Amino acid sequence: MTEYIINDIFNQILDDKEHIKPELINKSDYHDLDLIINYLENGGKIVTMASKEDCKLCGEVAGSRNYFTDGKWIWPIWIKHYLVQHKLKLPEQFILYIRENNFKIMEVNLMRKIVNQEIDYDVI
Ligand SMILES: [Zn+2]
Repeated sequence: MTEYIINDIFNQILDDKEHIKPELINKSDYHDLDLIINYLENGGKIVTMASKEDCKLCGEVAGSRNYFTDGKWIWPIWIKHYLVQHKLKLPEQFILYIRENNFKIMEVNLMRKIVNQEIDYDVI
């Protein structure tokens, strides 16, 4: 059976202790931040959790632990807090992918299949 592979943003931005890598903090200055945020908010929701994630840097509530996907990547929605408040640098390939697609989710069918658990996938 062919498994579809999705990129988990965590595997690129977290260190061994599951903290965001310090070298990625205060390292972004996206001119199109609003569009990036909008993209992140428009993914398909794959996991819904009641609990909230506290920011490990400032202690504020970073957001819900809900996870979203665009069919190629998976991210937790609380990542927005780190982007806006702490200038988190996202993986370059992710940003390039978002910009190349003009901030529109292109793999809508794939996204829906993942959300509806119609296909098997693995995260790397
Ligand atoms: Zn914070």
